[in-house]
Amino acid sequence: MDCVFCQIVSKKIPSDIVYQDGEVLAFRDINPQAPVHLLVIPKKHIASLAELAEEELPLMGRMVSVASKLAEREGVSESGYRLVINCGREGGQLVPHLHLHLLGGRQLRGQLG
Ligand code: 5GP
Ligand code: ZN
Repeated sequence: MDCVFCQIVSKKIPSDIVYQDGEVLAFRDINPQAPVHLLVIPKKHIASLAELAEEELPLMGRMVSVASKLAEREGVSESGYRLVINCGREGGQLVPHLHLHLLGGRQLRGQLG
């Protein structure tokens, strides 16, 4: 599997990991768009939100929960933050492995396209 995030999961590519459990991994984005920019991913390869199966919804819930806890740990929970999922070409998804962006630490504008 030449998926870059699968290689981060298997530690073939180094990354600044901030959280991991049996199913979820979180690390700092290599090209941060905000003072806090983390990526929260399932360890299992799921290509995009469009590929998420019904029975994987609890996994998505855990990813959101991890993001919320990390926001707290990174000190942006009170000031506020944004979770973003890009899906597919027109959604701006560049890495074809489901991921949640956690952005915070500066005033985010209404950049919804
Ligand atoms: P997308 O556009 O697919 O939603 O976002 C992919 C994100 O992954 C980008 O913000 C990009 O900077 C980040 N990224 C791509 N390759 C790597 C990598 O090898 N390491 C880390 N830490 N982040 C990466
Ligand atoms: Zn993958």
